[in-house]
Amino acid sequence: MVEDCLFCGIAEGSIPATKLYEDDGTVAFADLNPQAPTHVLVITKRHFADVVELAVDPEASAALLGGVRATVEQLGLSDFRMLFNTGREAGQTVFHVHAHVLSGRPMAWPPG
Ligand code: AMP
Ligand code: ZN
Repeated sequence: MVEDCLFCGIAEGSIPATKLYEDDGTVAFADLNPQAPTHVLVITKRHFADVVELAVDPEASAALLGGVRATVEQLGLSDFRMLFNTGREAGQTVFHVHAHVLSGRPMAWPPG
């Protein structure tokens, strides 16, 4: 738990969120500002600043991917985009690792 971290607060329940899936290591919740009909964020309960920091821990990395798999299964999503914005220039605004899962509309490529 990192003080003043929004997603640590959501993970521990002190900050409200629409949780869609939860297990021992991960939580999935609806993005407050959805960019697609379905836009879910999947986080580790433990704090890692970004996916590069997460990748140092194989167990937590596997847990996050497992959380994504369980979330898309639960929501019945076969086609979706998963992405990690990493660093401010790439659009990262919350420095607690989160996988965006976007679905429900055609996805453009290349992304903006
Ligand atoms: P990023 O810009 O990749 O760091 O993504 C942060 C995401 O968190 C954005 O898509 C925001 O809309 C979303 N967000 C910010 N605050 C909340 C919140 N309290 N509950 C749910 N999603 C949030
Ligand atoms: Zn955090």
